[in-house]
Amino acid sequence: MLNRRTAIIALGFGLAGASTLTAAPYDEPDELYAALREQPGERILFPDGAIDLVFADGARGIDRAAIRAWVRESADAVTRYFGWFPVAQYGLLVIAQPGEGVGHATTFGYGGSATRIHVGTAAGAAAFERDWVLVHEMFHAALPDLPRRALWLQEGNATWLEPVARVRAGYLPEAELWRQALIGMPRGEPGARDGGMDGTRDHDRLYWGGATFWLLVEIAIDAASHGKHGLRDAMRTVNRQSGGNATDWTPEQLMAAGDAAVGSEALSKLYRHFASGRATTDLPALFARLGVSAPGGRIRFDENAPLAGVRRRIVGRA
Ligand SMILES: [Zn+2]
Repeated sequence: MLNRRTAIIALGFGLAGASTLTAAPYDEPDELYAALREQPGERILFPDGAIDLVFADGARGIDRAAIRAWVRESADAVTRYFGWFPVAQYGLLVIAQPGEGVGHATTFGYGGSATRIHVGTAAGAAAFERDWVLVHEMFHAALPDLPRRALWLQEGNATWLEPVARVRAGYLPEAELWRQALIGMPRGEPGARDGGMDGTRDHDRLYWGGATFWLLVEIAIDAASHGKHGLRDAMRTVNRQSGGNATDWTPEQLMAAGDAAVGSEALSKLYRHFASGRATTDLPALFARLGVSAPGGRIRFDENAPLAGVRRRIVGRA
């Protein structure tokens, strides 16, 4: 576990890719942990946990007050989802870079739960308000670490739950969650020559194929429990039992713990279906059953659709 180098990466807006950041300070995870240990920081306390916030080398030019508010708000969205902040101690290294937005972020677990995130020195309130990256990273921190082959489970989980949590907390309009799903999920479908999800390195399959898996889990748990349980119940138990990404689990362990929490076999069955064989999803039919469409680019909900109730329960609307 000490030698683990599993990194969960999100590419923020305005960056062409990781290659634009070559040999930057703190690229090495050990440098991140050292900075969190050695540089001056501030502790943000929650009833169930704490965030140790460090501005790398002082992060000159950065709006510290806006960053503190953004960190609190992101933590609030995740806390409302779980009912608690999902890691007892979470290190957050903020690295200043030129620009107006939130950039590249990576989350590690092998030396304690920690994220490094790049923030533009010209980033203002609007940039932090529309940011999704930090909540995405906090969902990575909440899940136990998994072997590399299961990266799609981790990226899919954070991709699906980040907007769900922000909608539930009132930080994102509900239509935006579905607008993203309608656009993103088709990109995650397997190509003609693709196999199972385990081991895939394709960006869209990792993020959006994985997100489709977790949406299907939501629906399957809801169906098996007649609307009594959802993915959130499974996530809460998995987080409570693992304590987050400083612990290594297997995907099978994760599925079993989630299934036990909601009294179903939905996670294990869907995992087997997606992991090893080419699994396709009829997304147009799925969205129609959920009662989501986008005529003229504007999201419309059909409250009489067969799965409209699940769709409402996903975001905490009964
Ligand atoms: Zn990610």
